[in-house]
Amino acid sequence: MATAVVGRFAPSPTGRLHLGNLRSALLGWLSARSRGGSFLLRVEDLDVARCRPEFTDGLFRDLEFLGLDWDGPVLVQSQRASVYRDALEQLRRQGRVYACTCSRAEVARAASAPHVGEDGPVYPGTCRDGAVERPGRPPALRFRVASGVVRFVDALHGPVAQDVEHAVGDFVVQRNDGVASYQLAVVVDDAASGVNEVLRGDDLLTSTPRQLQLLEALGLGAPSYAHVPLLLQADGKRLAKRDGATTAAGLRERGVTGAAIVGRLAAWSGLGDGQPVTPRELLKGFSLSQVRREPTVVHDAELEALVAGR
Ligand code: GLU
Ligand code: ZN
Repeated sequence: MATAVVGRFAPSPTGRLHLGNLRSALLGWLSARSRGGSFLLRVEDLDVARCRPEFTDGLFRDLEFLGLDWDGPVLVQSQRASVYRDALEQLRRQGRVYACTCSRAEVARAASAPHVGEDGPVYPGTCRDGAVERPGRPPALRFRVASGVVRFVDALHGPVAQDVEHAVGDFVVQRNDGVASYQLAVVVDDAASGVNEVLRGDDLLTSTPRQLQLLEALGLGAPSYAHVPLLLQADGKRLAKRDGATTAAGLRERGVTGAAIVGRLAAWSGLGDGQPVTPRELLKGFSLSQVRREPTVVHDAELEALVAGR
């Protein structure tokens, strides 16, 4: 018997959901629901300085406005510190984590110029054999990465390979304020919820090999991955929040319907003709293989047309 699909959407409540987030939510929902699977929601609010409770309230409203539903209890990362601590303890027992007192600036300086990796400077291993004594600075915990190339097949990108040691280096799994890092929390939570399909923006493609190493170290199975291309502005930058005209809340205030937004999001993904449509109406015949693999440039005129109801 085929296992049921369990997909998820895991936004960070650092603002209201914008078109890029909404597109990931829509595609994740379509992928899971079109195969009779479940779709979970998780609030990734570990970054207390940037997350706000009103944005958490807002994301439920934004998803409902679009016509996207979810199953079961919503995991809230800020309430799961003890679960992450257990996972870190498991890694500690295996000798896979070590304390690091380096600041961001020190890491950047120590990583020699050619060592700007796929995700910022590569950690040069300064504290690998014992944290440098820096009185008054609490240590972060880093994961001791395994050498060798991590490979996986992404549903949209095809085969992906990364040598984590050289591209990233040992990475932080607990920040120096004692909070679990995104990389750790995401794998622990996906596994705890039984998620077996991770669909998200392809800005996270280079994080996946790190997450696969953590899953392996924790003895957890890996989900399948689909990294969807980003929505870009005409200048090639990631679609930004401009005067609310790119958030669900802002568009709603301007009288745009959820179905009109879903129609545009679908068309930008290579699905349908751009006319207003409900997520449910897009289910029939949906397959990830139809989703376009190139980034989509969203022109201001399209946003204006959306607001004008054209
Ligand atoms: N919370 C992350 C974000 O909003 C997404 C994490 C994930 O999907 O793995 O960018
Ligand atoms: Zn260090």
